[in-house]
Amino acid sequence: MTDTIKFEVDSDGIALLTIDLPGRSMNVINGDVSRDLSSLIEKVATDPAIKGAVITSGKPAFLAGADLGMLGSQAGASSVKDMFENAHAMNRQMRRLETCGKPFAAAINGLAMGGGLEITLACHYRVCADDPKIQLALPEVKVGLLPGGGGTQRLPRLMGVQASLMYLLKGDSMTPQQAKAGNAVHELAPLADIVARAKAWIKEKGDPVQPWDKKGFKVPGGEGAFNPAIVQTFTGGNAMAQKETLGNFPAVQAILSCVYEGHQVPMDAALRIESRYFTKLMMDPSSKAMIRSLFINKQAADKLARRPQGVDKFQVKTLGVLGAGMMGAGIAYVSAEAGMTVILLDTTMEAAERGKAYSQGLVDKGVQRGKVSAEKGQALLGRIKPTTSYDDLKGCDLVIEAVFESRDIKDDVTRKTEAAVPGLPVFASNTSTLPITGLAKSFSRPRDFIGLHFFSPVDRMPLVEIIMGKETSQETLARAMDYVGQIRKTPIVVNDSRGFYTSRCFGTYVAEGLAMLADGIVPALIENGGKQAGMPVGPLDVGDAVSIELGYKVREQTKKDLGDAYKPAPGDHIVDRLMELGRLGKKAGKGYYEYPEGGKKFLWPGLTENWPSAADQPDVTEVKKRFLYRQAVEAARCLEETVLTDPADGDIGAIFGWGFAPFTGGPFSLIDAVGVDAFVRECDRLAQQYGARFAPPKLLRDMAAKGESFYGSKVKAAAE
Ligand code: NAD
Repeated sequence: MTDTIKFEVDSDGIALLTIDLPGRSMNVINGDVSRDLSSLIEKVATDPAIKGAVITSGKPAFLAGADLGMLGSQAGASSVKDMFENAHAMNRQMRRLETCGKPFAAAINGLAMGGGLEITLACHYRVCADDPKIQLALPEVKVGLLPGGGGTQRLPRLMGVQASLMYLLKGDSMTPQQAKAGNAVHELAPLADIVARAKAWIKEKGDPVQPWDKKGFKVPGGEGAFNPAIVQTFTGGNAMAQKETLGNFPAVQAILSCVYEGHQVPMDAALRIESRYFTKLMMDPSSKAMIRSLFINKQAADKLARRPQGVDKFQVKTLGVLGAGMMGAGIAYVSAEAGMTVILLDTTMEAAERGKAYSQGLVDKGVQRGKVSAEKGQALLGRIKPTTSYDDLKGCDLVIEAVFESRDIKDDVTRKTEAAVPGLPVFASNTSTLPITGLAKSFSRPRDFIGLHFFSPVDRMPLVEIIMGKETSQETLARAMDYVGQIRKTPIVVNDSRGFYTSRCFGTYVAEGLAMLADGIVPALIENGGKQAGMPVGPLDVGDAVSIELGYKVREQTKKDLGDAYKPAPGDHIVDRLMELGRLGKKAGKGYYEYPEGGKKFLWPGLTENWPSAADQPDVTEVKKRFLYRQAVEAARCLEETVLTDPADGDIGAIFGWGFAPFTGGPFSLIDAVGVDAFVRECDRLAQQYGARFAPPKLLRDMAAKGESFYGSKVKAAAE
């Protein structure tokens, strides 16, 4: 018995190691588990009374992987040699397990991720509970790492190189059935029988030598530099990886290298190769930033870390949604999926029903793909109640409006709701542009009014930007966060401002693309530069998708609201011209791109006719820098103006809200990685060359002068 692993030996001399971290709902590999596992492996290896061992878990999941918080603090912190030793420790331990001369079997009772799955792969035999909901995965690539506990070596030796690369390079999960079909587990059994089956294997067969340690072992499907199928796999794999990552995700290349190099040598050398690449990634600032933003800070946000203390937990049982259009229909679906009853209101019954039909479509797809049972799907649909009557909103705990983006219409529906439900606890607006403080004026209790800004499509986008109006109370914020937690989305909290945080910064990406067009930069260079900078699509492409007309309308409203204070953008005249020409965006079938029926879209040749390309074109690195720095400088302004109050919210919001280059860890992580001082100097240069929009805010200058960074010395806005 150790602190983290229960140890028992049965009358057959078979040990059972049950990993069960005290005080945690999930097993993870941390220093304690690692130490305990090593000592028990030694015990099994050296105690002659023990014939072999089964490893299982005392929790519903098997093991969720390494504690990335621990890894994150190690990244870049110590010497290269220390980092290699840390990285190689698990490989050494797993190698000891598989070569100690005693058979080990894994009884996988639930989810096994990363290091959790790697422990099982080092065992000589794997029995998995026959439950299609169990996820088995090596998801390290998603946070910029590679599976460093032997995953890049053992999975391909079990499944074959090509099949395993699909899982290693994407981090996708496999079901137990897929794992069995692919040779990654040996046996499926009912949950209650897995330990007994694992013990039976030890008793009956108990071969303590891994296939790859036997003479004549061959990787299924082949290996090596001269095998035509493998050469093809790596040639294609490299090209595809390059196309998809544009060189921005070193982990993808590193995994390919681990598999390629590691399969030409015996296991011990292969594991050293893996540990070397792992160390290299850990030294890359991008891994550290990705672990911080995509994992540690995101998880904290998911656990509602910023929820005000001392407010009773709020549970939305009945939700009202006003407007059953694209957003309202999506909000209704995710809320009904989370178990809420949803009153979906529109001006006509037909529109309200259409909104519900959206959920029907998603449920049908889910049932077809086996992701949801027909009964559960029906129950979900039964919870959505279309209506045109405000009286039906009685009893709602929260009402979210998602009607047309018009102040008058929003005022009208807010008043009607309050008249019908006088004691409504919280009213929220899903506006994307109208300041919340202004909208709250049509509600008699502005303290209970808040912004809940969803992203489209609601069922797929993980972020909700919560906007505090001037008078919104902390209690309302806590309640809004509880709702976001109920629908399992990630909240960030921002203060009221034009475009809030996400729309404001995202807008600078498209605007910079137009500024470049005005500067005479070739459109293809603009689009490819955006993608190479790490953005999911080019600025003109996304401008079309969002709609040029919408951008124009938002700008006109802003002009009206700001009057003389409006600062024209360098590309304003381009938008005006496209509007004149009726090129309103993708929905209209023409915008910055042409959309031929049945064909592939292409950049509208009129762009270069109207805005001729300059003879001298910039290097793509300058284009990339303009995109990333322009957005990052705007994010820093948001922090200075207390629109944001925490850089972590800024990084999470940027990546999950508008797809800001994930490998940077977000705009604040980017500034930290460049160094605040160097970033300020470069922004000064960009401002001089391209305009004041690049001018660094005082916050950054002050930080540079004091040698501060966002995450080293976590700067918080003055308001906090
Ligand atoms: P939409 O046009 O698809 O849907 C609006 C719905 O509201 C329509 O079904 C309409 O019939 C209904 N409606 C209009 N007036 C009404 C009234 N008086 N009472 C009840 N229902 C009424 O629009 P959408 O894209 O779903 O946007 C809705 C809101 O969400 C807007 O405020 C928009 O700015 C915001 N938003 C949109 C996006 C996006 O990507 N589309 C993203 C975030 C936020």
